[in-house]
Amino acid sequence: MSTPVKFNLPAEEIPKQWYNLAPDFPEPMPPPLHPGTREPAALSDMQAIFPDNLIEQEVSQERYIDVPEEVREIYALWRPTPLIRAVRLERALNTPAHIYYKYEGVSPAGSHKPNSAVPQAYYNKQAGVKRLATETGAGQWGSSLAMACQLFGIECVVYMVRVSFNQKPYRKLMMQTWGATVHASPSLETDFGRKVLADDPDCSGSLGIAISEAIEDTVKTPNTKYALGSVLNHVCLHQSVIGQETIKQMELAGEEPDVVIGCAGGGSNFAGMAFPFIGRNLREGKSTRLIAVEPESCPTLTAGELKYDFGDTAETTPLLMMYSLGHTFMPPSIHSGGLRYHGMSPMVSHARKLGLIDAKAYPQLQIFEAAVLFARTEGLVPAPEPAHAIRAVIDEAVHARETGEKKVILFNLCGHGMLDLAAYETYLSGTMKEQED
Ligand SMILES: *Cc1c(COP(=O)(O)O)cnc(C)c1O
Repeated sequence: MSTPVKFNLPAEEIPKQWYNLAPDFPEPMPPPLHPGTREPAALSDMQAIFPDNLIEQEVSQERYIDVPEEVREIYALWRPTPLIRAVRLERALNTPAHIYYKYEGVSPAGSHKPNSAVPQAYYNKQAGVKRLATETGAGQWGSSLAMACQLFGIECVVYMVRVSFNQKPYRKLMMQTWGATVHASPSLETDFGRKVLADDPDCSGSLGIAISEAIEDTVKTPNTKYALGSVLNHVCLHQSVIGQETIKQMELAGEEPDVVIGCAGGGSNFAGMAFPFIGRNLREGKSTRLIAVEPESCPTLTAGELKYDFGDTAETTPLLMMYSLGHTFMPPSIHSGGLRYHGMSPMVSHARKLGLIDAKAYPQLQIFEAAVLFARTEGLVPAPEPAHAIRAVIDEAVHARETGEKKVILFNLCGHGMLDLAAYETYLSGTMKEQED
């Protein structure tokens, strides 16, 4: 074998601590606000929906936080995940650039989401919580939390955006296999769901509506807390295992990435990969470039406004300072369900505001063109979400070909597309439109 393509770490290299970017920001983040008073939210405002141990992580200014041993043991079922050099894609593009990807699709749920689902279930269990309520779009988060709850013996109820519930039965079946109860949202289970359905019986749902339903369920059901799969600080914290492992694997490969790319929906897989690199830029004077990639039809970071906004449609969450398209924004129906969210992680938003990251947006057909090229060169069929990262990687590699630059490009391949083949069918048959609505 001439060129090594796979860089594996032994199990003892699963990070023992999560990395928190918050204390390394050159300027502190604006606090969440109470929606009524517009004063900084009190910790007690969050206690109705989150356990104290996770609230502590949400507001922590510690740079490193220990990963509990029980969580590391579960991480060991699929971590450390592989780092792979995409030599066949490099050859197809005839580029002098080297392309690496961190592959998070080896988790049981097929994406990076269990990295946070497992610790969230663990901390809730520690706090004596018996039942977790959550929302899911395409089902990646719901299935990850369903698995994590099952492993810790907690009940799980998932409000799944109706359009996905109807069009994508497989992740619903994964959730049910892992013991969760799944409701199509808007549902008849909550006051808010009933109100939305009364106004629009055919409402196809949105993440914002499903979050409102899950929060209402939480505050009305005893022994229940709420779990969110992205956006929040503690989720970005948990996902930092991705970037920390990758930094060691790039050392094994003997290269330094010039540019690091990830797709961004709520921001968690991007944060997980990018934040440890941003920390090095800030503390060690390195200059790795970070790029978040999003759909042109839900362009939160590239066309949204940085402002205090609600995380949900019913205006129940604290106000978060984030790039947002507005909490009543109904994202058009595209095949990258995981990227259809009106807001963006406040930490990713703050990094963008401070100029620590760049952002790009692409239309859907260019995304699938990139996904198919990747599948045909590297073998792996990517989820449509990380295909956004692949699109930007290809553009960087083509640019390197034109300038003769030997740059090193790294990206996060945060999930496989084996349950997204219906989207590929639409693309391959030539009937895919930029938006399905
Ligand atoms: C959920 C999901 C996303 C979007 O969420 P982020 O928090 O932005 O990471 C992207 N890709 C996959 C595979 C997902 O499951």
